[in-house]
Amino acid sequence: MIQIAIDGPSGAGKSTVAKLIAKKMGIVYVDTGALYRTVGYYVRQKGVDPKSHEGVSALLGEIDIQVKYENGEQCVYLNGENLGDKIRQNEISKYASDVSAIPAVRAFLLDTQKSIASQNSVVMDGRDIGTVILPNADVKIFLTATDEERAKRRYNELIAKGADVRLEDILKEMKERDANDKGRKIAPAIPAEDAIIFDNTGLTGEESCEKILEIVRDVQNKRKEGVLQPTN
Ligand code: C5P
Repeated sequence: MIQIAIDGPSGAGKSTVAKLIAKKMGIVYVDTGALYRTVGYYVRQKGVDPKSHEGVSALLGEIDIQVKYENGEQCVYLNGENLGDKIRQNEISKYASDVSAIPAVRAFLLDTQKSIASQNSVVMDGRDIGTVILPNADVKIFLTATDEERAKRRYNELIAKGADVRLEDILKEMKERDANDKGRKIAPAIPAEDAIIFDNTGLTGEESCEKILEIVRDVQNKRKEGVLQPTN
């Protein structure tokens, strides 16, 4: 079993890289942002203020989230419905970020994340994987890139999906969301002490994936040689 944690801000390329790693290593990719997006989606549907601890916490009892893997893709079911790309809409990003600062929401999603990682070898991406969810992960990467590059990537992704967005708005929203994620009291989106910080500005997903695989191989070799003890 292996646990690879990839944290970092939005647009750092976490999901692209993590998906490639999962494919090459034959392990499970877990997109934890999708879980916060699902809660955000429900809160928006109910017309509740995503910053209201009371309002959001009161809704959690109505939410059943199931993660399933279909044709190698992670699918998140909300009360029996596969939400698919509905959680990827730009408006949902802000809702996800707001609800993720609420301790009850983080506690609500904790077991789902831990249980997937206890049953499978995983590459898991998010904001608190190396710090909270998998503190003993074999490899911890904090992936980042310049603000401009991250905004451009996110913009291109949204445009490819047919969204009508402007680059300057995406950059502004992204900075606000990152500040929100970094500054929150619970599980702030900061690197774990033992994470490797990797700025992948100018690199493709493939190139970033190769670099991380080198790190993973290095850890695995050191384990074999007995230089490093397994952490789990
Ligand atoms: O990764 P993604 O951009 O889809 O995540 C959406 C939001 O969910 C993030 O902005 C962050 O606020 C929250 N999140 C989190 N912890 C995680 C993953 C995502 O707080 N492990």
